[in-house]
Amino acid sequence: MPVGTRLRQILMTNLRNIPSVEQLLNNAADLIASYGRPLTLDSLRSALDVIRARLKTDPEFATPKNDEILSQAESQLSAWTRPTLIPVINASGVILHTNLGRAPLSRATISAMQTVSHGYSNLEYDLKKGKRGSRLIHAEGILQKLTGGESALVVNNNASAVLLILAALSNRKRAIIARSQLVEIGGGFRIPDVMKQSGAKLVEVGTTNRVHLRDYEEPLSEPTGVVMRVHRSNFKIVGFTGEPDLNDIVAVAHKAGVPVVDDLGSGSLLDTAEYGLSHEPTVQEALSAGVDVVCFSGDKLVGGPQAGIIVGKKELLSKIKKHPLARAVRADKVALAGISATLSHYLKNEAAQVIPIWQMISMKRKQIKVRAEAWKMELGSGEVIESESTVGGGSLPGESLPTFVLAIAIKSPDKLMAKLRAANPAIIARTEHTRVLLDPRTVLPDQDQTIVSTLKRVLSESPR
Ligand SMILES: *Cc1c(COP(=O)(O)O)cnc(C)c1O
Repeated sequence: MPVGTRLRQILMTNLRNIPSVEQLLNNAADLIASYGRPLTLDSLRSALDVIRARLKTDPEFATPKNDEILSQAESQLSAWTRPTLIPVINASGVILHTNLGRAPLSRATISAMQTVSHGYSNLEYDLKKGKRGSRLIHAEGILQKLTGGESALVVNNNASAVLLILAALSNRKRAIIARSQLVEIGGGFRIPDVMKQSGAKLVEVGTTNRVHLRDYEEPLSEPTGVVMRVHRSNFKIVGFTGEPDLNDIVAVAHKAGVPVVDDLGSGSLLDTAEYGLSHEPTVQEALSAGVDVVCFSGDKLVGGPQAGIIVGKKELLSKIKKHPLARAVRADKVALAGISATLSHYLKNEAAQVIPIWQMISMKRKQIKVRAEAWKMELGSGEVIESESTVGGGSLPGESLPTFVLAIAIKSPDKLMAKLRAANPAIIARTEHTRVLLDPRTVLPDQDQTIVSTLKRVLSESPR
């Protein structure tokens, strides 16, 4: 028999041996129970397609048993339905790591978010009057009490707060800003671009390193929408530099009848100087300097869920609230519940004790050393050395907190880092020369055991 004919016969037999989808479905009760019938059917078809494709190039490929096909389908089903957004352990020592989701939330915050998402809520319903209410009231009272601001609004994030404020107050009007504040925050978010997007006409004043009060005064002689100030969140300028006092900027702007808007970025509600860091501008300070509208993130130094918080003069806030963009960038009920819960920690003077990022910021070096030593003990290798943690998240640029880390000397730190990232949960560390460093400061206390067991396993597979 010619070779071609023989192969064709084998192929025909193999094709005939492929079970039908119906046959497989009859044995797939477990998969159907877990994943539903349509998706299971989909996965079985795709498993069979793979076999047919394989037979085209390799006619002698033995058709797998039904069990094997079902298990193939199960892997596919699991891959299709697996969430892509999963928890990781942050051992990097960067407290507000934007790539790792910024602030972990307090227990009370998580519970408030859970409660409001379980069922219905009075999000936009006035329970006293029995008719439509406003979602804007939910975080407003607490923000007024906390900051002394007349009025407040919570939106999707701080970038949208900046966009909304400028669209409402400075559309087609001049917005004056110092050149030294035309910053790029990260992820391509550039203040000048956002200002332009809002319809504001950018008026840059001063130089890269210095801006004087007269630089503001001059352009204020023409009709102007706002004077804008932006916190240099992620860099420092040093040397021959200077900026007028915020009080003075406010004075010249108000003399011209122009409001001042301050994008604080992180916007601390506590004084960072009390934690051995340099002073990050606080919301209360900006308002007492006479700033008309301030905005800041909910998930940076506030330590809550993603949100943009706007606080300021009632008259201006009412313009902002009425602007059509306000609807497009509004906060959802879960964020509103979470932000309110986080803010109430500040009101109760318990923020430093119960908000995770403040617990991390205020963690004592000794306490960190004890944990790093315990990791080392259990692991039976590594070295505890002094190092530095950073706050991150667009706050306190160039600043660090002294810490202790577990340092693991290894031939290929990058390979170890990759193995740690592949673990479940993934562990994010950092490298320094030929060492992998793990900082206990950003590791939640209930993750200590996981860190050690993962390291043990991964190191046993890695050449030292
Ligand atoms: C981080 C930051 C923003 C953006 O805030 P998001 O909450 O990330 O949208 C805007 N302005 C400044 C100065 C910032 O630091």
